[in-house]
Amino acid sequence: MTRSTLNRVIRRVPSDVTELLSRLQSLGYAAFLVGGAVRSLLLNQNPDDYDVATSATPDEVSAAFRRVIPTGEAHGTVTVLWRGGSYEVTTFRTESHYSDARHPDSVDFVRSIHDDLARRDFTINGMALDPVSGAFLDPHGGEPDLRARIVRAIGDPDHRFREDALRLFRAVRFSAQLEFSIAADTWASVCRLAPGLARVSCERLREELDKMLRAARPGDGFRLLMGSGLLQVVLPELAQGVGAEQRGGHRFDVFEHSLLACDAAPPDDRTVRLAALLHDIGKPSTMVLDPQGNRTFHNHDRISAELAERALRRLRYPNSVIADVAHLIRHHMFHYTPDWSDAAVRRFVARVGLQHLDALFAVRAADSYAQQGLPSENHSLRQLRERITTVLSSEHALSRSDLAVNGSDLAAHGIPRGPAMGVVIDHLLETVLDDPQQNTREQLLRIAREFYDTRMRMT
Ligand code: ATP
Ligand code: MG
Repeated sequence: MTRSTLNRVIRRVPSDVTELLSRLQSLGYAAFLVGGAVRSLLLNQNPDDYDVATSATPDEVSAAFRRVIPTGEAHGTVTVLWRGGSYEVTTFRTESHYSDARHPDSVDFVRSIHDDLARRDFTINGMALDPVSGAFLDPHGGEPDLRARIVRAIGDPDHRFREDALRLFRAVRFSAQLEFSIAADTWASVCRLAPGLARVSCERLREELDKMLRAARPGDGFRLLMGSGLLQVVLPELAQGVGAEQRGGHRFDVFEHSLLACDAAPPDDRTVRLAALLHDIGKPSTMVLDPQGNRTFHNHDRISAELAERALRRLRYPNSVIADVAHLIRHHMFHYTPDWSDAAVRRFVARVGLQHLDALFAVRAADSYAQQGLPSENHSLRQLRERITTVLSSEHALSRSDLAVNGSDLAAHGIPRGPAMGVVIDHLLETVLDDPQQNTREQLLRIAREFYDTRMRMT
């Protein structure tokens, strides 16, 4: 890299960051920017965060700044709050040995930036920059690899992947996120050692998966996971879709269709991306050939939702994410036609839930794109949206809470609390979805009594 390029990079480092490093240096410590920030700066992208490596111990860092949060002191990391920003500051370290490829057993602090860089995973993550002095350290050739757009392990790949098997997945994640290729020997090693990923905790897998899902095209990453054997560990359900042919307007097997749908979903919406990725994973197991030789996938929406739920639970996703993804998948198969009555539109909204409508339409748009891999003008979906807008503007009841009576009203009129009450309320909602005029207190109490007396009372 030429001096003038380097100067251009350094000028893009915010002054707050430079001054943080400068404060450590004025106290006699070495301090560098490292990792993703250096990578992003060299790529002309804006770093999400700035990580600092220093010769100062966590105690020394804590003494140097007023506001410090101990984050991972066993690993030598503290978070420094500085001028409105927060920075992870980590003492130079090498990780001496690992007993089970899961976590470092012991962390030695060594006062050397070179050792610190050597323990990092890939050459493009193993550079250090000191914007104060203008020093740029690149002992593993990260900068030429960045220019050639290559992910390459530092040192012997087999050795590095055995130390920490998560790096197998990280190689693929960085490749997808940066749209880089993977160096041949690194890739060969990923394929050879792929089963080792099973030793990594699900939480760590999920973090990488989440970062991969934010790539412009996560599908590229899933293809690499499949090709290397890693997908069998991360999401074997998705791997089942390879070679699972579909029918009708579909051009691709279930696997390719799923990846294209995921790519077509909005990058910043994890729930929609997961729903798009997993919306058809029940197809391989529900496929039946009918007597005419056509494929059918009866119930695949329900089975896909169940499989997705199980997979996301295994990966320790938050319950709210699991519930939303399963809900979207369960409802992704609606078939709108212009002859739907307003009542049918209201029932659709009630079933899906107002808060899920945008996401469900995003999943469907991704799904239709992925049938052919082409943008499709989706006239009927647009029409349904317009009809929903109309139905919503009329302020008719769409959920239990919109009813003109509540549980206490019903209890006061002889409907016992408990499961029976739920059935009565559902009946009332069905009634007003069909005919909004019925949504008055007087009418609903009358209907509730009648329904309960004739259909539910056991005596
Ligand atoms: P991103 O912008 O996606 O967060 P990043 O490079 O900051 O990219 P992190 O996972 O946040 O990635 O890790 C920060 C740095 O720590 C990496 O650049 C790398 O140098 C080092 N690192 C992280 N995880 C590992 C690992 N498992 N093995 C070796 N080095 C690692
Ligand atoms: Mg990071």
